[in-house]
Amino acid sequence: MQQSTRKVVRTIESNMIPTSSRVVFDWDKTLKIIGSTSSSEKKTNIFSRVTKNFLAHLKEEKGCELFIISARKPSQMGIETVLIETDRLGLTDYFCSTRTVFGKREEVRKGDSHWVREGNIIICDYNKAEVFNAVVEGKEERPAVIFDDEEVNIVNFSKIVPGSLCYHLVA
Ligand SMILES: [Mg+2]
Repeated sequence: MQQSTRKVVRTIESNMIPTSSRVVFDWDKTLKIIGSTSSSEKKTNIFSRVTKNFLAHLKEEKGCELFIISARKPSQMGIETVLIETDRLGLTDYFCSTRTVFGKREEVRKGDSHWVREGNIIICDYNKAEVFNAVVEGKEERPAVIFDDEEVNIVNFSKIVPGSLCYHLVA
């Protein structure tokens, strides 16, 4: 079996990602960052860790396929909540081209895995690597690159997805 690689990193850069990869981003604390807009207002806001230009560069110049795979509990309401956030940050189009109406999004139970999906935005609890394999099964082989802030996910991806390049994002 092809060996996977695990690395601890602080940023997401283009040179970490091979051409034509499938790139999997975790959502909370990986692609979505929470910060306060001003200390006096104490108002929290959400930001994207990478720019839209960066995602466009990965898709258009590097020919990558982009995924968000979150460990949030799989439910129709759960995927809706993630989509509200990706919409708010203007990121949805980089991950899915179609939009299904609320409550009708693809929901799959297979073995121990359960996921809800809109395009390449997937919520599946902690079976992320198993679900990724299931979703790309039968498709052309491409390098798999994973970014996640939780070590358990990095360990699982590196064990379960052969040859994957797994980046553990730390603050
Ligand atoms: Mg996270």
